[in-house]
Amino acid sequence: MAGNNQTSFDTLVVHAGRAIDPQTGAVSPPLHLSSTFARDPSGELLGDHVYGRYGNPTRDRLDHCLASLEGAAAALTVASGCAVAHLLFSTLSQGDELVVSHDMYFGIRHLLQQLGGRFGVTVTALDLANDDGVAVALARRPRIVMCESPTNPLMQIIDLARLAERCRTAGSSLVVDNTMATPVLQQPLSLGAHLVMHSTTKYLSGHSDLIGGALLTADEDDPTWQRVQEVRKVTGAVPSPFDSWLLLRSVATLALRVERQVDNAEALAPWLAAHPKIDRVLYPGLSDHPGHDVAAAQMRRPGAMLSLLVAGGLEGAKRFSAALDLIVRATSLGGVHSLAEHRKPVEGPLSTTPDNLVRLSIGIEGVDDLRADLASALDAV
Ligand code: PLP
Repeated sequence: MAGNNQTSFDTLVVHAGRAIDPQTGAVSPPLHLSSTFARDPSGELLGDHVYGRYGNPTRDRLDHCLASLEGAAAALTVASGCAVAHLLFSTLSQGDELVVSHDMYFGIRHLLQQLGGRFGVTVTALDLANDDGVAVALARRPRIVMCESPTNPLMQIIDLARLAERCRTAGSSLVVDNTMATPVLQQPLSLGAHLVMHSTTKYLSGHSDLIGGALLTADEDDPTWQRVQEVRKVTGAVPSPFDSWLLLRSVATLALRVERQVDNAEALAPWLAAHPKIDRVLYPGLSDHPGHDVAAAQMRRPGAMLSLLVAGGLEGAKRFSAALDLIVRATSLGGVHSLAEHRKPVEGPLSTTPDNLVRLSIGIEGVDDLRADLASALDAV
């Protein structure tokens, strides 16, 4: 089914990329494992595919589905979210500048800064919610500006339409990592971003059972897009057919899962904010969040990620985290299970994340059970 303006998002998640198989009538899309595709005696290909690194019918369905969900002209999927960042970096040349948000997934910022040092690309980390700093950086005309909104783990909100317009004026490409918001809640291409990326490992897969990444464009003629397609083809950081199939299957419940996760997060956030063992809750759905109004304008709902600043500093956060029982202590986010992560020990000595920050990825469990688990863990602080 082709996406169009009349088709609702709830319908797209179920139907996009999942046309009934014309050969068998199968409702669940076929999983094509073949790594190579045959030619006839004259050398003509029998179908549309050549070789699994270049393309695969199951992966094509996934790419088509994700493009529909983000309102994109095209999508390409790769083996992880970090592989998307690596692909983007590979489009830069010595002397180029890449601006990244000072708060974003730590692993990607670290990867880009390390690569920048080795290949003569300046990687500048900046508070992209602060207008003055952005103006100075954009005056240098960086090739790429990369951010998340909400940011991970500080949950800052960046005005994406405003930043996109300023990037366009400067001739810079804005890449928005939409992993935390998901296309259910926010569609950065419609706000003017050039490219959108995802760690599909998170909400899009939603069951903590695969690693993947995606990049999407509003314009297939965009030079950065052309280059990443070529690099993916020749380097081969592609998702396996099975992971592509599994992700396509999982996306069918994306809207249902995210709405339920946000219901739970919205119920828990004010209760946590009023709790005496919590110094502060960072959640754009709370009216005292500095980005609340911008979030309300650019997101349909405020998401299901909360960062807690636990009373008692590093020790308080350690005790809280250790006392959780139902909520799983694990890295990652976006799955059906609620997860908690005390970020400082994970990010290590270079981390600028507050010592007492525990990030919660709220799942689809019963909200009373989640509240009871959080209450008993806070009693231990
Ligand atoms: N983007 C965000 C917002 C993330 O949280 C992560 C991982 O935690 C990534 C990208 C990297 O994705 P992956 O782990 O799939 O490489």
